[in-house]
Amino acid sequence: MTQQKWNLIVDVANCTNCNNCTLAVQDEHVGNSFPGYVAEMPKHGHRWIDIKRRERGQGTMTDVAYLPTMCQHCDNAPCMAAASDDAITKRPDGIIVIDPDKSKGQRQIVDACPYGVIFWNEELEIPQHWTFDAHLIDAGWSEPRCVDVCPTGALRSLKVDDATMAKVSEDEALEPLRSEINTRPRVHYKNLWRYAQCFIGGTVSAEREGIVDCVEGTEVRLLREGQTVAQTETDGYGDFRFDRLDPESGSYVVEVSGVSDSVRREVTLGESVNLGEIRLVG
Ligand code: SF4
Ligand code: SF4
Repeated sequence: MTQQKWNLIVDVANCTNCNNCTLAVQDEHVGNSFPGYVAEMPKHGHRWIDIKRRERGQGTMTDVAYLPTMCQHCDNAPCMAAASDDAITKRPDGIIVIDPDKSKGQRQIVDACPYGVIFWNEELEIPQHWTFDAHLIDAGWSEPRCVDVCPTGALRSLKVDDATMAKVSEDEALEPLRSEINTRPRVHYKNLWRYAQCFIGGTVSAEREGIVDCVEGTEVRLLREGQTVAQTETDGYGDFRFDRLDPESGSYVVEVSGVSDSVRREVTLGESVNLGEIRLVG
């Protein structure tokens, strides 16, 4: 039979920053040691599941996204390569275990993780991470506690073979964090663009008979090097937005078509930008 392995799916669009998952990990591990799996978590300073926050835009056009981060249980794990004495192992079910005894004194393991999700326990002198609740899974739990307590369905766990997971990833447009480093994580993100990408937006208005009003249904185009890369229309408030653009991706032109002429704005994209009011002439 094909090996079934654990995966975690994180839907960024559904995370509300309630911190239930972070607290469930603390509740499970502070003051509790699970020999062979993980030693107890310190009361302060560790967030084995952490929620990062990103605010996008300015003024009247802003949004906020939350990114749950935790050990990604990589199949190609840099932490394993940095460990000595077999201190880190990957189980057949895909879960990475940092042995609490063998890893003692191996501070280099913390620095080896490209996701920054290993915490150093000063008192015990060991590296620690979110264990996928391997001790509970082995005791018969059908999912880790973070999934159990997430009220919005932002977290989902799946134990399936790799071919099935690849199909799920394709069907649901899941992405790894930092795909460029080829760590092959077992944590997969949905709607990652909400956190990782940018928008260019603005509001179109026009003056008619001395009254300035927003303009609905006006065509707005986004151009790069003279070519149209996206097109939209303003909504009932005169707003438009081009989303899912890469940060620091360079020069764009926004072109708003008026009745008698068009207005162009040049943008060099760093982070998300609200161009504010763009007034059409006539
Ligand atoms: S429990 Fe769910 S919604 Fe709450 S912070 Fe964690 S992932 Fe986000
Ligand atoms: S996320 Fe970091 S700690 Fe977890 S398996 Fe990957 S490299 Fe290791």
